[in-house]
Amino acid sequence: MNSYMIKDNIKQVNDNISKAALKAGRDLKTITLIAVSKTKPVDMLKEAYDAGVRDFGENKVQEILEKYDKLPGDIRWHMIGHLQTNKVKYIADKVCMIHSVDSLKLAKEISKQAIKAGRTIPVLIEVNVADEESKFGVSIEDCEALVREAAMLPGIKVSGLMTVAPYTTDPEDNRIYFNRLKQLSVDITSKNIDNITMGVLSMGMTGDYEVAVEEGAGLVRVGTGIFGERNYAIG
Ligand SMILES: *Cc1c(COP(=O)(O)O)cnc(C)c1O
Repeated sequence: MNSYMIKDNIKQVNDNISKAALKAGRDLKTITLIAVSKTKPVDMLKEAYDAGVRDFGENKVQEILEKYDKLPGDIRWHMIGHLQTNKVKYIADKVCMIHSVDSLKLAKEISKQAIKAGRTIPVLIEVNVADEESKFGVSIEDCEALVREAAMLPGIKVSGLMTVAPYTTDPEDNRIYFNRLKQLSVDITSKNIDNITMGVLSMGMTGDYEVAVEEGAGLVRVGTGIFGERNYAIG
């Protein structure tokens, strides 16, 4: 089952991340590649695992549940997609981080389910930096208020910000949005809000992760560049 070339793709992506980090004078240890495995079968995830990947990103609760028991227990599962409040309870004991918090209602439910599961769940606030109508996430203007409210909830730890930049064929188009997310995290850090850190920026996908790394990404979420195109009809 080596026909997928997943191992080669991972090496290529890691090489590109290294180059971008070097160019920006960043320490590679502060950057983690998340393999976005949504719609992909378990044997492909296994291949990525065997190539050294331990961080996987999924955007559907059902898919995390299906894959979770079939793969090694040291995998860190990242919930990166829009999360419905009524589904938090299924993954509260399974995910290492939820990247997509964009409402107080969702933050409160994660808090409640984290307490039930006896743990603290690190979360990121999703920001719609480019103000796209089709995208989830809070506006830049509303971000600090949500951070402040979420900071007061037990069982969750606001650890940074996440964004899904616009689709583009020129990654340079998105530099401004990655830079804005970084700036927003710097602004919020300067407010010294208790019980939060803005240490993590989750940004950059297959089309633009090198630029995201140059602009300060700590978590990059790469799907197609590792596993190939997604076929939603089959997946
Ligand atoms: C699908 C997805 C990705 C990965 O996208 P690619 O372009 O395939 O790398 C990253 N982040 C989120 C939130 C996604 O839903």
